[in-house]
Amino acid sequence: MKKLALHWKILIGMLIGVLFGFIMASVNGQVFVMDWVDPIGKIFVRLLKLIAVPLILASLIKGISDLKDISKFKKMGLRTIVIYIITTVIAITIGLGLVNTLKPGEGITEETVSMLKEKYSSSEKAKTILSNAQQQKEAGPLEFLVDMVPDNAIYAMSNNKLMLQVIVFAILLGICLLLVPEEKAKPLKNFFDSLNEVVLKMVDIIMLFAPYAVFALLASVVVSADDPDILLALLKYAGVVVLGLFLMICFYLVILSVYVKKSPLWFISKISPAQLLAFSTSSSAAALPVTMERVEEHVGVDKEVSSFVLPVGATINMDGTSLYQGVAAVFIMQVLWPEGLVFSNQLMIILTALLASIGSAAVPGAGMVMLVIVLEAIGFPSDLLPIALALIFAVDRPLDMCRTTVNVTGDATVSTIIAKSLGKLGEPNVKNWDDNYPVE
Ligand code: ASP
Repeated sequence: MKKLALHWKILIGMLIGVLFGFIMASVNGQVFVMDWVDPIGKIFVRLLKLIAVPLILASLIKGISDLKDISKFKKMGLRTIVIYIITTVIAITIGLGLVNTLKPGEGITEETVSMLKEKYSSSEKAKTILSNAQQQKEAGPLEFLVDMVPDNAIYAMSNNKLMLQVIVFAILLGICLLLVPEEKAKPLKNFFDSLNEVVLKMVDIIMLFAPYAVFALLASVVVSADDPDILLALLKYAGVVVLGLFLMICFYLVILSVYVKKSPLWFISKISPAQLLAFSTSSSAAALPVTMERVEEHVGVDKEVSSFVLPVGATINMDGTSLYQGVAAVFIMQVLWPEGLVFSNQLMIILTALLASIGSAAVPGAGMVMLVIVLEAIGFPSDLLPIALALIFAVDRPLDMCRTTVNVTGDATVSTIIAKSLGKLGEPNVKNWDDNYPVE
């Protein structure tokens, strides 16, 4: 009997997790869930993050050194950056179009604002977000370029927040492997080839636990959710974000069927485990190893392309996050600062949300920190900032789950498009142990 496909198992795990979370919340079992169930999810996320750096390093070095000549790399690099920027601008425009038409801010009453303000504006979380945003703001305009270049490769590899530095180091090493004589490059290249193969196998093994881990992750999200009254008050705003994210996914699928000539359902079924993990963990960095494995082995994108496009995408391409930032910024203005709703500010939002999504870390909640920067760039009154955050706090986690799913889908789509444009889209090559069962 053919066993159930991995994405179904993960989906079932998620559903049971949500149900279990609701049941435990109704019997005041929150502490039990946080003490005994939540750690299972945390272990899984740690395992995924554990393999992210070795995987990026090995696959990027292997990918580039397989290219045979550097001009191909230049072509791919340029295309990647241009397409990432275009998709992000499209995402923000969709968000702005929807929030300006549907005006979710108009339904928010004075009482709701004061209730949210009382509950969240002086919370520890809001303070941390504001101080993180302050640090980001104090950096000079070219600081992000300086931050990309490591001054210590080993240190960069030891810190998950420095993924871009690892990418820069791996690119440099890969290019130099192309430039030295072949017999000198071979031992190092073989080493990274082998490391790459082994780490991808680790992804398969870790994914065996995915259905149980997502159960734990979702149960803890549900028990730590806010009370339903607050969620209900923000339903229209959340609905606009979700609608925008949905349209963005439709946009990817249209491009895939028109340009890549692949059926949307086929594509979704191939990458769904990565999407479901992005949803459950709210972190594109945690989902990255699975995204790479799915795109290479199940969609058929050549490693030369996926090994560059995906890690770069996970760190700088966040279409879902930028769409959310556009909607959230305008929603906040509709409620707290209607006089700021002018065309020039909307243009400024496109520009700053684009930069902010590049600067957002691929971890839960990062989009909210950068939202503060977007608001400050349009001259939003700083004394209202804590209230602005309070306004969207309650629904941030569920929206983070949804936008991370779009971030990952965007990366997978762009890598497939680039592979197609370079003639590097081949047949899927599913290996043993994959999808939870050995393939004959
Ligand atoms: N959680 C998102 C990600 O990892 C970033 C954000 O929007 O907060 O892709």
